[in-house]
Amino acid sequence: MPAVNRSRRWFVFWAISVQCLAILIMMSWLQHRNKTRFLRRLSLQIQAISDAIHWQRVIDWLGPRRALAQSPAPANGPRNRNIPDYYDRLETFYDRMQRLAARHPEVVHVQKIGETTALGLPIYAMKISDHPQEEEDESAVLFSGLHHAREPVGALVCMRIAERLATAYTSDPQIRRWIDNLEIWIVPVVNPDGYKFLMDHQVPFPWWRKNLRDNDGDGYFDPIIDGVDLNRNYNFNWEEGGEGNPASWFYRGTRPFSEKEIVAIKELALRENVVCGISFHTYGEAILYPWGNYYPPPDQKLILRVAREMAQRMTRLNGRDSYGVLPLNGRVGQSSVWLYGRLRSIDFIVELGQEHFPQSHRVRRVLAEGVKAAFYLLERAQRSALWGHIRDEQTHQPLRARVRVRGWEARYVYPRVSESRFGRFERWLLPGKYTLKIEAEGYKTKTLKNIRIYRDKLTYLDVPLQRKQSSLPMSHH
Ligand SMILES: [Zn+2]
Repeated sequence: MPAVNRSRRWFVFWAISVQCLAILIMMSWLQHRNKTRFLRRLSLQIQAISDAIHWQRVIDWLGPRRALAQSPAPANGPRNRNIPDYYDRLETFYDRMQRLAARHPEVVHVQKIGETTALGLPIYAMKISDHPQEEEDESAVLFSGLHHAREPVGALVCMRIAERLATAYTSDPQIRRWIDNLEIWIVPVVNPDGYKFLMDHQVPFPWWRKNLRDNDGDGYFDPIIDGVDLNRNYNFNWEEGGEGNPASWFYRGTRPFSEKEIVAIKELALRENVVCGISFHTYGEAILYPWGNYYPPPDQKLILRVAREMAQRMTRLNGRDSYGVLPLNGRVGQSSVWLYGRLRSIDFIVELGQEHFPQSHRVRRVLAEGVKAAFYLLERAQRSALWGHIRDEQTHQPLRARVRVRGWEARYVYPRVSESRFGRFERWLLPGKYTLKIEAEGYKTKTLKNIRIYRDKLTYLDVPLQRKQSSLPMSHH
């Protein structure tokens, strides 16, 4: 029965499509006898219609009716036959993380950073550093993958980065330096619910993107109405981004940080005061930087320089050209936009490859480009930047302070701050001379002039701050 049902639906769908197309062609022809204008107009109209169609709904309607994810499928149930075997299931990603940490406990530690919104599945981060179980006074970098369910290449590249770092720690001096000096946080699967749905059900087109948020609150997962686009749920111009319609692929949720997955990323990023990072997506062979259509980011020159240097190192599948560099929409609650606007983290979205599920020989090449992006950023974290510690002049107690660089600030982004455990701060800059202003509550603001930033090394500053005379000795309310 379902097969008959399905073919009838296909027939109706194509019959309507062909009729619409015929009408469209006729109308366009009548309006514009001129041939090139006619063709241009026709293609614009087809594009507009294609944009307006809810493809997810069409796909769901065409496919056989199915009872979806009333409960998560067991881990050993049949996997989605529409997805090639070399894409790991969710549980395999979990296993790979645990196995890597077990093989390299001196540099890899797996930490649960949160749970998913609908199924309560764990969200894991790998911390790659020397003494990974301790909180050390080291700058934090964040790599993440699979915000979107249909983009497992992002998770695969995160695993590849982690495995390359861990296995080369003792043999590669450059990698050893990164691991010794940095805390590298890697979250391969930001959206376990969405990915599990995709892998554990016979979804005909593996195009699911969102998480499994039960938007209509009926206790069932229904792909026509449920799910939130996790990469529209961050709180920076959240209300202007994505879409308000729960059925949309780009549904931003009822409020910023409504989704537990994104709260987990937020808390990790704030706690670690992340200085740079990449969120891996598919596809487009491009580096997306914060941001385009919003007040210009005060670090635009630096951000563009970093994006271009990264892109130069990455080769497209055609084997000739390097990756493109494109601005993100600044009016969207996306990860990089929030990480930069809130934390001043130099963060990028890297769109890998040319499709969501490339064949195996292409996946390998795409992953290699992703590793290059990450390794470039890790190396960049070792030079042309400022770092240091801010402390109370008398007690030496670490201070949380704002680090402002003259000419590189704006009222529509947060200032970079030092973290509170060690008073450590970082600030990426271009080579040159800068004037800094260090501000902390209850302390005299300190101005530092002629601070030089070098091309090939870091500039260190120890910044003692003097308590204001008028302020009482530390009393906590
Ligand atoms: Zn994506």
